[in-house]
Amino acid sequence: MALLVQKFGGTSVGSVERIEAVADKVKKFRDNNDDIVVVVSAMSGETNRLIGLASDIMEEPTPREMDVLVSTGEQVTIALLSMALNKRGCEARSYTGGQVRITTDSSHMKARIVDIDEDNMRADLNAGRVIVVAGFQGMDETGNITTLGRGGSDTTAVALAAALKADECQIYTDVDGVYTTDPRVVDSARRMEKITFEEMIEMASLGSKVLQIRAVEFAGKYNVPLRVLSSFKDGGGTLITTEDNGNMEQPLVSGIAFNRDEAKLTLVGVPDIPGIASKILKPISEQNIEVDMIVQNVGLDKHTDFTFTVHRNDFKRATGVLQQICQDLDAKSVEADDNIAKVSIVGVGMRSHAGVASQMFDALSDEGINIQMISTSEIKISVVIDEKYMELAVRSLHSTFNLDVEPIAE
Ligand code: ADP
Ligand code: ASP
Ligand code: MG
Repeated sequence: MALLVQKFGGTSVGSVERIEAVADKVKKFRDNNDDIVVVVSAMSGETNRLIGLASDIMEEPTPREMDVLVSTGEQVTIALLSMALNKRGCEARSYTGGQVRITTDSSHMKARIVDIDEDNMRADLNAGRVIVVAGFQGMDETGNITTLGRGGSDTTAVALAAALKADECQIYTDVDGVYTTDPRVVDSARRMEKITFEEMIEMASLGSKVLQIRAVEFAGKYNVPLRVLSSFKDGGGTLITTEDNGNMEQPLVSGIAFNRDEAKLTLVGVPDIPGIASKILKPISEQNIEVDMIVQNVGLDKHTDFTFTVHRNDFKRATGVLQQICQDLDAKSVEADDNIAKVSIVGVGMRSHAGVASQMFDALSDEGINIQMISTSEIKISVVIDEKYMELAVRSLHSTFNLDVEPIAE
């Protein structure tokens, strides 16, 4: 008998038939005497539909009202799934985030969980009931509904698993595990049996949206055994785990992530004097715009070109701010490009190997793909390229680093 937290994403609860299938699955575990806490997302497409309704009313609705709106999606699925379980003779109770007492801070639309009261849940579990919790939402100290950011049901599941010290947190989704890259883009992508927390954090933050990054961070921090599995077919899925030092055949590169979420801005011909980076980036951060990659290069004429990337949602605002900075600093011009993509290779095996970067750059050059920016850390290398070559780059890197083929058995 185990205590399991099982999360079902939007596609897995996308219709009444699918909700019934989830109920069958959960009942099987319960019949096996496992204690079950289920976390569900809204039905697929529902959160986007709700956001669309809001934007029909106004361009920038207040975040508080957005949270009241988007949290309704999950409230529908907890009720329907509980009904489907009760119909099967499997006693279940639905709870919103606030009812569980998932307390968060007050940062609407990107709230952080600060506390979870486990007493209510323990009482239900002791009475043999399945608990069905709305993902993605909580409540701040004054009772306002909050949400945890897109994909936040993953984080709800991991946080509940940590609070209850569950034996495993199982994320059921529309793929049967974490792949070497998005299987929707590369046919030859392979499911991994295991991936380290560190690698999964990089993959998630560099664009692999199979798990919300905060969920992985949380699981790593609180040592929650985390597994990604298919809702639709049986199988062991992918276990996210601590580094496996016993694995001598560790691949150099474990996975490839990519995203089209960023845009690139360059301030051309800035005088090269101390304090310039801060003069450019301070007004950007004062507008609450986050900067990701930064490149600065001093030319022979003592002028520098200063390039950085921001999220595409902030592109227009950042361009406006930079145009003002251009005038203030007497720079030459602003160049703005939102047709870029970031492609990254990730792997703890890179730590102990030289030459991975040049192998990556060779592969891209063989395809005639120009690299616009580069950034590296111990276990990842990211490049910014023209968006139209993104899929070609991912496919070519996938085969360069032998991810198309099964690794040799240990
Ligand atoms: P859910 O609605 O269940 O939360 P998501 O759409 O958030 O599901 O996440 C699953 C999707 O993540 C898959 O359909 C897949 O296209 C995408 N994905 C991106 N990168 C990867 C990867 N490396 N491995 C598996 N899936 C990935
Ligand atoms: N329904 C929310 C979203 O679409 C949360 C989630 O599914 O994890 O982002
Ligand atoms: Mg998701």
